[in-house]
Amino acid sequence: MLALLNGARTIYKIMLENQPQLIDRFGRKVTYVRMSITDRCDFRCVYCMDEEMTFMPRAQVLTLEEILFLLRAFCELGVEKVRITGGEPLVRRNVDWLMAEIGKLKQTTVLKELTLTTNGSQLRKYAVKLAEAGVDRINISLDSLRQERFKALTRTGNLDTVLDGIDAAKQAGFKRVKLNAVIMKGRNDDEVIDLANFAIHNDLDISYIEEMPLGHVTHQRAESFCSSDEVLAILQTGFQLHRSTSVTGGPSRYYQLAGTQSKIGFISPHSHNFCESCNRVRVTTEGRLLLCLGQEHSVDLRGIIRRYPGDIERLKEAIIKSMDIKPEGHNFNISEQPIIFRHMSATGG
Ligand code: SAM
Ligand code: SF4
Repeated sequence: MLALLNGARTIYKIMLENQPQLIDRFGRKVTYVRMSITDRCDFRCVYCMDEEMTFMPRAQVLTLEEILFLLRAFCELGVEKVRITGGEPLVRRNVDWLMAEIGKLKQTTVLKELTLTTNGSQLRKYAVKLAEAGVDRINISLDSLRQERFKALTRTGNLDTVLDGIDAAKQAGFKRVKLNAVIMKGRNDDEVIDLANFAIHNDLDISYIEEMPLGHVTHQRAESFCSSDEVLAILQTGFQLHRSTSVTGGPSRYYQLAGTQSKIGFISPHSHNFCESCNRVRVTTEGRLLLCLGQEHSVDLRGIIRRYPGDIERLKEAIIKSMDIKPEGHNFNISEQPIIFRHMSATGG
């Protein structure tokens, strides 16, 4: 019986080793997909959305079954890490079913890690279900620890609900919980240290994100832009930081906070371009495969799925071919009006 099982495992491994891989013109191997499962959200963060947003008509949005089918194709092409995001992924109906089905891909494909980015508002309801579904790591956005300010930055969010969600996530048994904070000058740059202390006291990691010029928003982004180097300088006034070699497959640069378990990351698309090591693609809510966050090169995968339902080989062919148009890098410029009109919420941040 054991010999039979080992034999089956060997055949499976050979099959996996021989499957086509996703390698672009610059020799970069794509092993990471970020999937936006909804462009809708219960918050309206000032850097992410306009006050008035028009969301996508439902017929244009991929169904949960289509999302699963798409992710299976990617994982059969060597994708080892999937991040589910949005919009707010946890406002999508039956998201728990979807996460459990994606979790099962770890048994049948090379998928190793399933992660989720959320604003935390629904975590009290979903944290345990997500952990049971096989979600390994979870990122929770938290830009302020002050009630009024949190409300101003998210327009509709409630800080207590999010803090309660963070608590639920801590208890649910994920491998690691990380906070994400977008730092804006004059809005929350005076909370850089407080946010790090909150992470330390809760045994969480934290990443500071530079604001990106995605979509039209009401403020002038150039005025609020705060670089990672500025955030690092603030942190160095209060903490001893040691550069860490830790990598998570993402673009963060990490530092270890001396005397704690917490890591501090910086996501710096402007000041520290990370394109040369890019290993990822994104899929928008409507099934558009985006080869770069800061460019418009894309392939309409929804069209293929709906024209040829169930034809996974045809879908895989299109994904392999898309590698030919993955751009070398983005060319964000915070002082210009957005050249990318997609909001982060539709793209899948
Ligand atoms: N709703 C979830 C959340 O807020 O975590 C997931 C989607 S959100 C688009 C993903 C991440 O993108 C969040 O950490 C958010 O702070 C970040 N984000 C949104 N718009 C951004 C922008 N223009 N520049 C930089 N980060 C942005
Ligand atoms: Fe919603 Fe996340 Fe965008 Fe905030 S950052 S508006 S929570 S999608």
